[in-house]
Amino acid sequence: MTPEKQIQVLPDHVANKIAAGEVVDRPASVVKELVENALDAGATRVDIEIVAGGRKAVTVSDNGSGMSRDNALLSIERHATSKIRDADDIERVGTLGFRGEALAAIASVSRFSMTTRRADADGGTEILVAGGRIQDVREIGCPPGTSISVRSLFFNIPARRRFLRSEQTEVSHVRQMFLLYALSYPEIGFSLTVDRREAWRLASGASEEQRLRDLLGQDAFRRLKPVAGELAGVKVHGFAALPEHSRGDRSEQYVFINRRPASAPVLGFAISEAYHTLLPRGRYPVVYLHVEMDPSLVDVNVHPAKKEVRFRRPSEVRDAVIAALREALGPVAPQGVPLAAFSDAVPDAASIAAPAAPLLNIPDMPSPHAFSYPPLPMVPSSSPAGGEGDKERVSPAASAVREKAPWSWCRVLGQAGGLYVVLETEDGLVLMDPHAAHERVLYEKFMGEVLAAEVKAQGLLAAETVELLPDDAERVRENMATLRAMGFGISEFGGDAFIVDAMPACLGNVAPGVLLAEVAQGLSRGGERAGTEHWAEDAVAVAACKAAVKAHDTLRLSEVEQLVVDLAKAEMPYTCPHGRPTIIFMGFNELHRKFGRM
Ligand code: ADP
Ligand code: MG
Repeated sequence: MTPEKQIQVLPDHVANKIAAGEVVDRPASVVKELVENALDAGATRVDIEIVAGGRKAVTVSDNGSGMSRDNALLSIERHATSKIRDADDIERVGTLGFRGEALAAIASVSRFSMTTRRADADGGTEILVAGGRIQDVREIGCPPGTSISVRSLFFNIPARRRFLRSEQTEVSHVRQMFLLYALSYPEIGFSLTVDRREAWRLASGASEEQRLRDLLGQDAFRRLKPVAGELAGVKVHGFAALPEHSRGDRSEQYVFINRRPASAPVLGFAISEAYHTLLPRGRYPVVYLHVEMDPSLVDVNVHPAKKEVRFRRPSEVRDAVIAALREALGPVAPQGVPLAAFSDAVPDAASIAAPAAPLLNIPDMPSPHAFSYPPLPMVPSSSPAGGEGDKERVSPAASAVREKAPWSWCRVLGQAGGLYVVLETEDGLVLMDPHAAHERVLYEKFMGEVLAAEVKAQGLLAAETVELLPDDAERVRENMATLRAMGFGISEFGGDAFIVDAMPACLGNVAPGVLLAEVAQGLSRGGERAGTEHWAEDAVAVAACKAAVKAHDTLRLSEVEQLVVDLAKAEMPYTCPHGRPTIIFMGFNELHRKFGRM
């Protein structure tokens, strides 16, 4: 028999040291905990300073409530918190912290010093702790608020210290953390000082928009669309980038849940879903989103560092996020901007300031041709008195379109490689893939009709009998009613054969057999999205793909022009429904730079 080993309760400083591993793993997590405490203390200014990637020192100073001497001493005890009183409070925490672990954990693995003072107190308190043991407590003169310095992180856990990465890497983690809280709390003034140099100083009292502008810069900000929506008590607001500014990973998806930077699998899914048909596989949209809801519907106590949360009703959160993003990105018709309303107002090509010098002579494209798409900057308002260029009088819808449209005038210069259409616009050169562009145009048109349940069907001159593969036939049978609603005049002909006597008019002359099979497949795939407005997306996307001009089809100039006009009017002109680009733009600025003209 093995001799029985004596069980012992670990002394506090040992237990703290062990627990510290869960809360702090690097300087950035110290920053996180200290900043959260400052915010919970009602600070309006938070100043962060790090030295040597935070290995030497992390200091966070705030102008918040401060602490009395007694509370200051308690704050570094494990499970000491002023934020909850009993277990039930966890259900509805309104503060960032509540576990009462952070200061104890951090103080147990560093040389820790805190100065703190309540505004109404004459003096402040300073506490020095090393490796969890209090070294000194004394009265001190200091401004109201709290300042905590964490030096020599993990000095007493060499294995941990070795795990820290290069200074540069740790700095970038700290910057990232800084960014998160700066974004989440625009009304709070923040500064970040790295090795005595000020990296950021953000004024307090900023709006969400102003803070984003400050952090991202004007150019990046311009790519964003405001997001705002509410569904079943879940509020979603923030900004989302147009699909063409996507990234290869999720690193630019910032989501704040009740102002807490946190993730949840359902959110990543919802964001991708919202951009479905706008981005190719493996591309991730850039978003800055706030999700707000009743705190009792969010469980933040899943992870010691509270990086991940759980929702009581994930599907409501998902739907709210999708709806808000879709709305921001410009939903396909019918909810979209009523573009048709402007087509009357198109000034004729002659009034457009495009250079008209004859250039190349291309067969079938005899002269470069300037034309406009509706609406132009000078679209008059609905009031007849509206003068040209009078911005005040441009209707809000017109300006919304103008903002989104890729150019205000352009001319077709020719076609390259028998494929790419070359355009000149006011800002530079555009290469357009006619197939992708046509796909986008057809997709939006068809989708608009389908969602409005107003699909125009076109009778075939002669009904066609279509024999399908067994699987495809099964899918067609399952989706018969939907296919009819989508404009397919279709009836069973026995076995796996069908008679088709009408087709969706907007798709032109596509072979019914192929289209039917593909659309039915799309509908089956889309079944997973059933009950949302996305059910038809896959089906409509394949239909658009089949019906669009093929890559090397010969196009007449008038057809190309029509396509350019239609694309410019599209809600999402920049990508095809599978997310491939429709146009590639090279700005004159870029050309000037390349030619050394800057
Ligand atoms: P928690 O934040 O989970 O309560 P912490 O260990 O981070 O646990 O902090 C313990 C307590 O110390 C807090 O509940 C709060 O009362 C107090 N405290 C910590 N930091 C500050 C600060 N910067 N200003 C005022 N009080 C603070
Ligand atoms: Mg805390």
